[in-house]
Amino acid sequence: MSERWAVVGGGMLGLTLALRTAPAGHEVVLYEAADELGGLASAWRIGDVTWDRHYHVTLLSDSAYRNVLREIGLDDSMRWVETRTGFFDGRRLYSISSSVEYLKLPALSLVDKLRVGYTIWHGSRLRDWRTLERTPVEDWLVSLSGRSAFEALWRPLLEAKLGEGWRDTSAAFLWATIQRLYAARRTGLKKEMFGYAPGGYAAVLARFADHLRSLGVSIRLSDPVAAIDREADAGLRVGSRSGEDVFDRVVVTSAPPVAARFTTCLPEAERARLAAVRYQGIVCASLVLSRPLEGYYLTYLTGRKMPFTAIVEMTGLVDAAEVGGRHLVYLPRYVEASDRYFRMSDDEIRAEFLPALRVVHPDVRDEDILAFRVSRVPQVFPVPVLGYSEQVAPRDTSVPGLHLVSSANIVNGTLNVNETVQLAERTASELLRGEPVRSHPRALVGERSEA
Ligand SMILES: Cc1cc2nc3c(=O)[nH]c(=O)nc-3n(C[C@H](O)[C@H](O)[C@H](O)COP(=O)(O)OP(=O)(O)OC[C@H]3O[C@@H](n4cnc5c(N)ncnc54)[C@H](O)[C@@H]3O)c2cc1C
Repeated sequence: MSERWAVVGGGMLGLTLALRTAPAGHEVVLYEAADELGGLASAWRIGDVTWDRHYHVTLLSDSAYRNVLREIGLDDSMRWVETRTGFFDGRRLYSISSSVEYLKLPALSLVDKLRVGYTIWHGSRLRDWRTLERTPVEDWLVSLSGRSAFEALWRPLLEAKLGEGWRDTSAAFLWATIQRLYAARRTGLKKEMFGYAPGGYAAVLARFADHLRSLGVSIRLSDPVAAIDREADAGLRVGSRSGEDVFDRVVVTSAPPVAARFTTCLPEAERARLAAVRYQGIVCASLVLSRPLEGYYLTYLTGRKMPFTAIVEMTGLVDAAEVGGRHLVYLPRYVEASDRYFRMSDDEIRAEFLPALRVVHPDVRDEDILAFRVSRVPQVFPVPVLGYSEQVAPRDTSVPGLHLVSSANIVNGTLNVNETVQLAERTASELLRGEPVRSHPRALVGERSEA
């Protein structure tokens, strides 16, 4: 029987849910608060350049996402590139783009480098994430890499991504990162290549939206949902900027602390539980430069405190012609929603970030920077605390027909578009089969483990 479904959130999760549910004959309405689709993966304008608001790459092994790209007619046009990686030890910048370069890196002793290499290899072979989920990441890394490698390498990297939250983080977080980076090799591909669609996510999202409309999905932009209430004679009433509408089913894709604000039909205790899920956010500066840096797609930063986590030179991957011959660099800082960086203006952030960028690249002049713009998102991914999978909020709520699915349901994976697509597909098929929706895709983790 055809039903009316609402999907709240037009990020990759909501878009894929719509893609997989509309063909079943349901009338699907997609609500997006912003004036464009894409959420974390949306595109924006920095000076005269339009590109992704946050740096995004696709891996050759991202098969679920690539299937979606195929369906919307874009996979064949993807560009695949072998990128270079930099390492800043607090004084000098090195290339670690090959095993030989890594072995020459003076920042770590040879023994430490071998132990770090062993840690990564060992992590790639492990399948039992449940034990790792109960092991503090520090204990795991120190036991495998040794204390000195932990202090010189792992700790700065963990702090950069998780702030003080790294202390409560389980080893499964690092395991999931290693698994993702090894996925290509596990599927028989020799080299890891990074890819992007010409035109970036702006092009992907435009094509995705056209495809959804052709399936009959109604997309409501600039239409934030403010309340979801129960109708007396069954059904759910969604109140948004454009008015009210009634649905048989509502699937909310925003992060639980955000969903807690408008899932008004849920009992207080349930909403409080959603609001309490601990999230890490991001303050991410985009810079358009008239000149390249060193061409490293990613530069790891260790050896001294920096206001940003890493340096991402997007045009170390993306052809500069895509961005009008300019060079695009991202400086991300991962922080909790309460962090002072969320209250700083773009100019204040620029005043902190640029001197730090010059510590690594001293020859960058003010006149080289053509544009500087900061993205701020308070909820990006849940802090992967010890025993996280036991605490995940269920995707079914106490209100029939209301489901919550978001990045919080990605257990022991890393936040990326491929996992997001897989989560959406699993949720869609469970909803369409009328099964209770599981709190997290255990089978998905199992499938990956056997790959
Ligand atoms: C800095 C950064 C770098 C990344 N790099 C990569 C990468 O290289 N490769 C990769 O694969 N992935 C990457 N990711 C991850 C990727 O962006 C996410 O996995 C994906 O975009 C998550 O999609 P989502 O739909 O779950 O969430 P979101 O994108 O957060 O979407 C949620 C949507 O819900 C909307 N919304 C919220 N409240 C309401 C409301 N009340 N009413 C209506 N709409 C609402 C929001 O506006 C938003 O559009 C990166 C993410 C970040 C932040």
